Amino acid sequence: MPTPSKDPRPFKRAILKLSGEALREPGSTDNISPEIVQRIASEIKEAIDTGLQLGIVVGGGNFWRGASASARGMDRATADYVGMLATVMNALAIEGALSHIGVKCTVMSAIEMKNVAEPFIRRKAEHQLDKGTVIIFAAGTGSPFFSTDTTAALRASEMGADVILKATQVDGVYCSDPRKNPDAKRFDTVTFQHCLENRLNVMDATAFSLCMDNDIPIVIFDLGPNGNLSHALRSQPIGTLVHGE
Ligand code: UDP
Repeated sequence: MPTPSKDPRPFKRAILKLSGEALREPGSTDNISPEIVQRIASEIKEAIDTGLQLGIVVGGGNFWRGASASARGMDRATADYVGMLATVMNALAIEGALSHIGVKCTVMSAIEMKNVAEPFIRRKAEHQLDKGTVIIFAAGTGSPFFSTDTTAALRASEMGADVILKATQVDGVYCSDPRKNPDAKRFDTVTFQHCLENRLNVMDATAFSLCMDNDIPIVIFDLGPNGNLSHALRSQPIGTLVHGE
């Protein structure tokens, strides 16, 4: 299985996890920045043109998070359904930007919404990926009490992806919290086992254990600087690679 630092062969099939916050301009009140979405789309196009098969799982935290609304008194399941619907808005924005520059793509939603998205059907999704269509997986898993990180782990397992590329606002996994410890060291590569034993925060526990059990490496990288996404998609060393033994 190709991994960026240990074996820089190009990925055949990858799942890109974009948090909702990644689509927002820092400090802006707009939930989605069209300019950021366009930049993401053009870096994706470059990678797709080299033959990469790509699925994108997008979060919804730029609009809503179920756990936060629930902490403020809302029923958790209802709050989570609102969160899943929020991811659909982001998915449509990404689809629009990719289509605009000629990338074949489609949104597949885990909650049926046939006027704007196809329903998620695993075999159909695999077929579309084989044909080079980018699939944007919307509405999370379709079930409350999960996250879009877990969705990424699930879709990567179902689609037989080589890797999950988790675009965040930090540049990798550190031995301790770099906001609290200025001497914290960033790992280039680290095993699942080490993360588990040292309680290093990579993804939520459900997502993490799915990746570990199914031996799906995760690359954690900072989406901010121009070109980082393109590096990650092309399997060039970036951020931290979390992998099995
Ligand atoms: N969500 C859910 N089930 C899922 C995926 C997401 O209920 O399978 C809800 C949950 O409320 C979550 C929200 O959708 O807070 C947005 O997803 P997430 O927080 O993972 O987005 P991100 O932080 O990546 O932007």
